[in-house]
Amino acid sequence: MKIALIAHDKKKDDIIDLVRRYKDVFKDHELYATGTTGRLINEIIGLEVQRFLSGPLGGDQQIGAKICEGKIDLVIFLRDPLTAQPHEPDVSALLRLCDVHCIPVATNLGSAEVFLKVLKTR
Ligand code: PGA
Repeated sequence: MKIALIAHDKKKDDIIDLVRRYKDVFKDHELYATGTTGRLINEIIGLEVQRFLSGPLGGDQQIGAKICEGKIDLVIFLRDPLTAQPHEPDVSALLRLCDVHCIPVATNLGSAEVFLKVLKTR
C-alpha cells in the first residue's frame, strides 16, 4: 500500500512513537509524508519516506493531488485540534479529497491503531 503520513507539530512525538511501534508493518509499504514529518520518520526510525513540501508550504495539497491520481491508499494524519493552523484550508481540502475518493483516513491515534492492527494481520 501507499501510505501518507502527516502530523501537526504537537503530534510529531505521537507519530514517531506510532511508526516505531508498527515499524514491522510500515516497512512493507511505500511511505509518503509532508516534509518535516517525513524527515523525522526517516532520521529517527530509519524508514525510507518520499517527502513532499512541509504542510504549511503546500505539502498537504501535494498529498491531495496524489490522492486524486489514485496514488495514495491510506492517510494517517495526526491533527492537533487544539491549535489554530495557518494552513487549515489545506487540511480541510485534504480530508475532503479523502472522502471524495474513498481513501481511508485516520485523524487521531485511536483510528490509526485500528488501521495498523488490520494491516498487521495481513
Ligand atoms: P510537516 O507538515 O510534516 O512539514 O510539519 C505537517 C502539517 O502541518 O501539515
